[in-house]
Amino acid sequence: MKKIERIVFATGNKNKVREIEEILSDFEIPIVSMKEAGVDIEIVEDGKSFEENAMIKAKSVWDVTGGLVLSDDSGLVVDALNGEPGIYSARYMGEDTSYHIKNNNIIERLSGVPDEKRTARFVCAVAAVFPDGTQKTVTGIMEGRIGYEESGENGFGYDPIFILPKYEKSTAALSPEEKNAESHRGKALRAIRQEIEKYINR
Ligand code: IMP
Repeated sequence: MKKIERIVFATGNKNKVREIEEILSDFEIPIVSMKEAGVDIEIVEDGKSFEENAMIKAKSVWDVTGGLVLSDDSGLVVDALNGEPGIYSARYMGEDTSYHIKNNNIIERLSGVPDEKRTARFVCAVAAVFPDGTQKTVTGIMEGRIGYEESGENGFGYDPIFILPKYEKSTAALSPEEKNAESHRGKALRAIRQEIEKYINR
């Protein structure tokens, strides 16, 4: 049985760290951010998929820290927009543009598109580099559709326009527990958690 002292999570996004802590809260391993681990490097996310980008981040941080490093890359894929914003979700219309503007732009681009063609999904790839250097990537998906207006006060990013059929509500109208149980990130993190458990017991 191997001992893992801590998990370094390769992200600077506070919303993600909060969701990740909620999902892995009963895991007995402390999770620290890149900043808390003292890693201050510029990472160029030039991969062509969520999986590639997640691994680029995890490997870049692991090269500095060693140990167990996790990273995620996620985004919204809208079918009627040929998969946009996809891997460019954070950069869509500019990194500093508010999500109120981004969300309303997507709604506008879908004007006249009927419910059955408003299908979309949140995708999350989580990459792990283990203390011995082995690599693993898993992917979680949450299917839904784009609504006609923003709704809900929770969540972040594109949550106000993403309707989850199970609740017929936006993911911004769900409690964190309800969202985590269904979310792309929740699914991917639960899958990587199993990989961590396998590594520890190997
Ligand atoms: P990255 O993974 O940091 O490159 O950025 C992913 C981007 O996708 C975020 O900045 C959000 O815009 C969007 N996104 C990913 N997951 C979610 C989610 O759970 N809710 C809302 N937006 C999300």
